[in-house]
Amino acid sequence: MYFTEEPEHIGMLRETLSRFVAAEMPKSLVREWDRAHTFPPELFRKLAALGVCGLTIDEAYGGQGRDLVAAVAVIEEVCRGGACLAGPFIHCAFYGGINISENGSEEQKRDLLPRLAQGELLFAYGLSEPEVGGDLANVATTAERSADGKSLRINGFKRWCTGADWADTIYCLVRSGPEQDRYKNLSFVMIPPTTPGVRVHPIEHSNLRYTLSSDVIFEDVEVPIENIVGGEAGWNRGWNMLAGKALDVEKIEISAVTFGIAQSAVEEAWEYAGQRKQFGKLIGAHQAVRHDLAEARTKLEACRLMLYRAAWLAQTDQPCSVETSMAKLFVADTAVEIGLVCQRVLGAYGLAEGHDMERHMRDLLGMPIVGGSSNMQKNNIANRLGLAMQDR
Ligand SMILES: Cc1cc2nc3c(=O)[nH]c(=O)nc-3n(C[C@H](O)[C@H](O)[C@H](O)COP(=O)(O)OP(=O)(O)OC[C@H]3O[C@@H](n4cnc5c(N)ncnc54)[C@H](O)[C@@H]3O)c2cc1C
Repeated sequence: MYFTEEPEHIGMLRETLSRFVAAEMPKSLVREWDRAHTFPPELFRKLAALGVCGLTIDEAYGGQGRDLVAAVAVIEEVCRGGACLAGPFIHCAFYGGINISENGSEEQKRDLLPRLAQGELLFAYGLSEPEVGGDLANVATTAERSADGKSLRINGFKRWCTGADWADTIYCLVRSGPEQDRYKNLSFVMIPPTTPGVRVHPIEHSNLRYTLSSDVIFEDVEVPIENIVGGEAGWNRGWNMLAGKALDVEKIEISAVTFGIAQSAVEEAWEYAGQRKQFGKLIGAHQAVRHDLAEARTKLEACRLMLYRAAWLAQTDQPCSVETSMAKLFVADTAVEIGLVCQRVLGAYGLAEGHDMERHMRDLLGMPIVGGSSNMQKNNIANRLGLAMQDR
């Protein structure tokens, strides 16, 4: 099985990324980017130049060959420096690369995948709406076909659309058929945010501040019919696309971000406990602190196993809806526990600007919510494993 020993190429990839993070992402700058709600776009171009964006794309379409486990390792390694760079990597390699590979028409694959593999295109996810969080089949944003069949008219409101301000396109879940067919009337449409009628309004939020998450309003937005994901065959097949690989992979990529941040938190607390003295000895020599950190390391290792097993199942095309939900649930909830312990180890400095811990904690607190809340994962696990809802 995969995680008995890490493949050599992934070890080499980690070394390259670790050097990249050390050279390009000094801690003081990452803190500044977080404060300024931004990060330099050229940083992503430098990451893309390492060839990592093609890790989710077949060689036939210009990628490196699909290697989800390696792509997860990329997220983990960059998040150890700061989650900022994982954002655009996910928007390119996962939201773009995976979704178009899985669901795109042949024309879309030929057109988009080579550019995604080069890191030249970024996709934002337009799923959530003001009235729609976990219940995605309830989206109210509509797409209507024009009388001549050549274009679509989009009206509606997306919320929390991360990267809508800089993405090339919004990969948007829309209602495309009659109301009553809840799961059979949804489609994905690619909507460039520069299209007339699209308005983007950033939302203030405390976690993952390096990118803006925005409200996006569509008012009589017209896009060509070619922008239906999957082409004509994709019309009203949005739910199948979402419930297939897309959702499994989203749970994995969010878990990888979470794991990378939790690792950083443990590293910072570990180092601090080996430097700070109170009562005449290192705080790491006080048994309570020592045990807390040993426990945090143990939990981290459990997270690693859950995450990479789920990624390996997805990579080898095995059914993994339960395992990806278990990984998302466990890693997100455990990472919050780990973060709180690590923050306590830093005492007051765990809450202060100028230390990374306060950012790690803000970022970690959102993880049991984003990309499908912990409750939604529990529902999925119980449903998929057939737990009875009523007497038989
Ligand atoms: C920083 C950030 C970035 C984001 N980026 C994106 C993005 O790029 N694209 C995008 O589409 N969305 C994005 N989101 C939205 C995110 O995916 C949603 O917040 C998430 O899906 C949960 O939806 P909600 O917050 O509306 O919660 P709700 O679904 O309203 O849930 C609220 C609470 O009720 C619980 N709950 C709801 N239904 C059930 C149930 N059936 N059983 C048990 N408990 C239930 C939930 O667990 C939760 O605790 C982002 C959010 C944040 C904070």
